[in-house]
This record gives sequence, structure tokens and C-alpha cells, in this order.
Amino acid sequence: MTRTPARLKLSPELCDHCGKCMERCETGALKVGVSYIYVDWRKCGGCLACVKVCKSNAIQERVTHSAPQRRSTTPSGRRKSSGRAAPGKSGEHPGWTLQEAAIVLAVVLLAFVAKDAALTSSFVGGLSRSMGIFLRAVVLGLFYVVQLLPLLVLARRHGGFAPAYGLERREGPWWRVVVTTGFVLGLLIITRLFTAFYGALVQYFGWSPPAAAAGDLTDVFGGGSAGLVLAVLLVVFVGPLIEEIVFRSVLLSAFRERWGDWAAILLSASLFGLYHFSAWMFLPAFALGVALGWLANSREGLWPPLVLHALYNGVAVAAAFYVAAA
Ligand code: SF4
Ligand code: SF4
Repeated sequence: MTRTPARLKLSPELCDHCGKCMERCETGALKVGVSYIYVDWRKCGGCLACVKVCKSNAIQERVTHSAPQRRSTTPSGRRKSSGRAAPGKSGEHPGWTLQEAAIVLAVVLLAFVAKDAALTSSFVGGLSRSMGIFLRAVVLGLFYVVQLLPLLVLARRHGGFAPAYGLERREGPWWRVVVTTGFVLGLLIITRLFTAFYGALVQYFGWSPPAAAAGDLTDVFGGGSAGLVLAVLLVVFVGPLIEEIVFRSVLLSAFRERWGDWAAILLSASLFGLYHFSAWMFLPAFALGVALGWLANSREGLWPPLVLHALYNGVAVAAAFYVAAA
């Protein structure tokens, strides 16, 4: 029997978690969490019972014909085997499969290994300072481009780049923005204090940080204004954007569907810590990953963790260039 999934517009920010939609959904296609509404389109029969019982308009019938709905079936009418399709600009975190998460993670790891091999090669080490800085910036730029390519391809299967990764604009009351801003700033202070305390403690016991963790970014990008621009571009903007999409959108979303909120947050944070490929940096990166994962999970969408990540890195960049200039 071929099911015809409903065209639903999901707005988790309006949900008051009454649970009525899940009670009424006879196919078990609906799941409502702290910060998301998830529909398994393979199970959804299109009865719209959830729309009828949702008094807060968190689930509404989508009246426009959306591309993602068409993408969920092949031209012959058979379901695609790639897993569930996200419902487009619906406002919920899209459902990612573990296979997709594994593909993204594999590309990230391969790109990381290639980047490290290039940056530590004797060829780059033998270049003049200015050529070395230029080449390092090119390698880092390519490192992010390589990661971006599969994300662009996969986004087409999930309703477009912004809805696929939780980057679309959300409607909501003004106080919600204020509360989210408070969470971002509070977590920035907590994670930065934790990193500073951790650094001081382990150095007290004789464990020195690697150059990157020591804030020696001026060695990588150069200490002048051109180096500052490069560091801000790559470390504050591009790096957090790619890393948040990978760890707090694709991986967190895929893990959450299988193992629940906190298991997903801890697992994605562990992978984020390992991704820094440094025993010294694992714990601060893990703590930051937990804060970012919690923020992504509880504040709906990727913008809050993205801003926190950019500010966190921005503090490191500002400190490194301030010290270099002093
Ligand atoms: S439309 Fe019907 S089957 Fe689909 S999620 Fe809503 S209640 Fe469940
Ligand atoms: S019926 Fe509406 S408000 Fe109640 S849990 Fe479902 S989506 Fe949320």
C-alpha cells in the first residue's frame, strides 16, 4: 500500500507540548520533543488528525506545493531508499539518517587528515614566512570547501540549504530572542571560564598546550592586519559555520532520532572533541560541544549555537592578536 504523506507545516516554537498530536497519530509518525516536532514521512498517512487537534498552530496543513514532498518519491512512485525526507521550510530539525551522518563524518575526517598532512609537510615548512602564511590560508580554505561540497549535495535532499541545516529564519515572540541571547552570552562566559581554568590547571601540572590552543594564531596567519582578516574569516566565520552544520545539525539530528536528546548531545560533543585531534584540547572542545549541542537542541535551529561558536573563537582570535600587538 502506498501512503500519501500530509503536507505539514511544523512550527516547534509554537508547541506547548500538550501531546495531543502524538495521541491522535495512529501511524506513530509523529514525535514531539523539547525543541522539535518530527514527522516520519514514511509512516505518515496524510490523515491530518494532528492538524485538527493542535490548537497552538504548531502543526498546520501546508497549502503550497513544496519540492521536498515530490522528492520523497521516485518518478515511478516508489519510495526512495535514502531514508526520510525533510518537509522543507517547516521549522523543525530535519531528520537525517545515520548513513548520511557517516558520509559527512567520513568526509570531514579525510579532509582533516589531508589538511594536517599538507600543513605539516616539509614543503610548507621550507617556504618563506609570507608564502607559508599564504599557503596555509589556501589549505584551510580548501579544507572547508571540501567539507561544504557533500553538505550542499545532501541539502538538496532535505529541502534546501537553510531548512536542511536549521538556518532558516524563525518566527517567534521578541522575548524568545532575548532569552536565547541570554543563553548564548551565559554559555560563552561559562565555556570560556572552563577553558581558562582547565588550561591553568593542566599547565600547573606541567602539561603544556599545543600552539593552536595556546592562542598562537598569529604564527599561522601572520600578525598584521591581513593576518587578522584571515583569522576572523576562517576561524570566526567559516570554521564555526561548517562545524555547526556537521556536528550540531547533521550528527546531532541523526543521533537524536536514534538515541534521544542527551545521548545525541554527548555523542556529538565527544566526536567534536576528537575532531580537534589533540588530547590537550579534547576536554575544552567536549565541554563546548555539550553547550553547543544543548543550545541547538533547546533553542530550535542552528543560529544560537553558531553565534556562540563564532563568539567563542572570536575571543581566542582577539586575545591572540592583542597579545601579539602588545
Ligand atoms: S497527518 Fe496523520 S499520519 Fe501524518 S503525522 Fe499527522 S496524524 Fe500522523
Ligand atoms: S498538538 Fe500541537 S501543541 Fe500539542 S504537542 Fe502536538 S504540536 Fe505541540
